[in-house]
Amino acid sequence: MDDVRPSAMAKLTIDLRAIAKNWQTLNGISGAAGAAIKANAYGCGAREVAKALFETGCRDFFVANWVEADALKDVVPQNHISVLNGIDEQNLEYAMAHAFKPVLNSPAQIAMWRDINAPCDVMLDSGINRLGQTGCDSTLFDGLDIDILMSHLASADEDVKQNHNQVACFKAAASTIASRRKSLANSAGIMLGKDYHFDISRPGISLYGGVVRPELSDIIAPVVSIHARVLQVRIVAKGAPVGYNATYKCPNDTRIATIALGYADGYLRGFSNKGAAKFNGKILPVIGRVSMDLITLDAAQALSIQEGDWVQIDYDLCSASQTSGLSQYELLTGLGHRFARQYV
Ligand SMILES: *Cc1c(COP(=O)(O)O)cnc(C)c1O
Repeated sequence: MDDVRPSAMAKLTIDLRAIAKNWQTLNGISGAAGAAIKANAYGCGAREVAKALFETGCRDFFVANWVEADALKDVVPQNHISVLNGIDEQNLEYAMAHAFKPVLNSPAQIAMWRDINAPCDVMLDSGINRLGQTGCDSTLFDGLDIDILMSHLASADEDVKQNHNQVACFKAAASTIASRRKSLANSAGIMLGKDYHFDISRPGISLYGGVVRPELSDIIAPVVSIHARVLQVRIVAKGAPVGYNATYKCPNDTRIATIALGYADGYLRGFSNKGAAKFNGKILPVIGRVSMDLITLDAAQALSIQEGDWVQIDYDLCSASQTSGLSQYELLTGLGHRFARQYV
């Protein structure tokens, strides 16, 4: 029967109201905020997130490339979407047929766009030394219709002199270039104070629950949660190993629950012998190595757990980042495609 559908064994729940609330919080602190929705909105679903944030009042969206922009062409007005990687020969025809704004990063990109006479954004490199126009003579920008003139902070999650250097560099360069708006701060940069706010901020990670500076911990709501099915429960004898390469040996006879989640879902091997799940309020530590499709939990605390139950995976971004050695960005953007996604 074609109308009978298989069902996933792991669920990813994405709280769009929490994303909207986080945007309102960051919009309030910074005076005005856009939203970085590149990489499928950090794994949360760019179409769903863009729609929810547009309804909440957000009017500026940042994607990495033209394929990501294309996926949003019928979701929010195209001229509200900035393409951070800028323009190239291969995408020029597409760009001319659409109203998205390229973020021009180099003299070659500027030359390519100048004759097109359509709005654009510009990225100045104020010290990250990665992407953007450096040490520019302002005549380079003559004739461009620049909406957002921006730069990007390298170390906003730290209290270091580089932040002050970048804001000073950006201020000096931006004062010589005509634009409608100026923008510097990402999520962490918003918490560095008014000097960093300019006309519009560009939060990403904190919209999705990321706490990248301590000041954010009380004001940012969690967004993603993961649940996965128990496939089998067994008692493993004292001294017996669990999982690939026997990285765990049971100190006692141990109740083990095997769960339908693995590194193919983005639950990477850094959680081996370190991660945890919850069942009925009890904590079940991950024991043994994370496999592609499976993890094993010490279920000593969960006497009633059985096949078919669901456990909640501990995926608090801050603590999961410390546990796994992955950044909060990697924890979100690495989430795989096997989940049943639920938006609430
Ligand atoms: C990704 C990105 C952001 C958002 O950064 P977060 O640290 O996720 O808040 C802002 N600006 C640019 C240019 C980016 O590439």
